[in-house]
Amino acid sequence: MPESDLRTDDVVQPFQLDPFALRGRLVRLGPTVDRILAQHDYPERVATLLGEAITLAVMLAGALKYEGIFTLQTKGDGPVRLMVADVKTDGAVRGYAQYDAKRLGESVPDADGESPSVPDLLGKGYIAFTVDQGEDTERYQGIVSITGATLAECAQHYFRQSEQLQAGLKLAVGRTGEEGTWRAGGLMLQRVPPEGGRARIADDVEDAWRRVMVLMSSATSAELVAPDLPPRRLLWRLFHEEGVRVYQTHAVEARCRCSRERIAGILKAFPMDEIDEMKKEAVTTVTCEFCNTRYEFAAADLERIASA
Ligand SMILES: [Zn+2]
Repeated sequence: MPESDLRTDDVVQPFQLDPFALRGRLVRLGPTVDRILAQHDYPERVATLLGEAITLAVMLAGALKYEGIFTLQTKGDGPVRLMVADVKTDGAVRGYAQYDAKRLGESVPDADGESPSVPDLLGKGYIAFTVDQGEDTERYQGIVSITGATLAECAQHYFRQSEQLQAGLKLAVGRTGEEGTWRAGGLMLQRVPPEGGRARIADDVEDAWRRVMVLMSSATSAELVAPDLPPRRLLWRLFHEEGVRVYQTHAVEARCRCSRERIAGILKAFPMDEIDEMKKEAVTTVTCEFCNTRYEFAAADLERIASA
């Protein structure tokens, strides 16, 4: 058994429900989501919504077949104007949110334990899913309008619209323990078009789909984030009568891709007069939005970057 299969946190657990070949993924995030959210001082509701976005991105990135980066981005006219979560195939995850504190203060808070309200926080706008698999490949981007009461509903809407497939989705984010450590969980099932030679009586599939959707909805938010309920045990608890088959897990971890070199590369693209303006300061500080790391550049550094 690979080491990642023994992990109960920061894993993606793919599974299948026989006999109708319904495919699913269970995501469980512990230190990964806690680290990303703790790097920022977000209000509780913003952190919870971003936690959901990160979990959703990890769940959807699990379908990538080649090396690449999966990015989920929301842009809306609500108090949370932007959220970005991206996941690399090697398991590196990061994310951040931009919000308007004043407008957030005026919106109605969600009841405790409920998923944050998408209409209240994101407002009207769009969600984009981008798959970038390297320089020599075409970028794939799916865009859908923000439609749904929760982020899980928005993702379901996306699947119906863009992928023409039915999907059931659950997302949960919560705090546990005395220190209030962030945890997150997600569960997804999708119905794929039947492959040749495996055609089933449509009614049977329909019945099975309805049955597993009921089972899925019986999973509570507490179960999805529970530290002492390993993903495989949760799947067994929910779907043992449906013949659940688990596959090898993938591990994920919070890791940013920023570096001093990358920031220098961005600065190099700035117009000369802006660089000159920055050089008037003793030190220019650039903060990575994802991980909050601060990079400092003295006037002499800027000079070197601009003339390189
Ligand atoms: Zn960073």
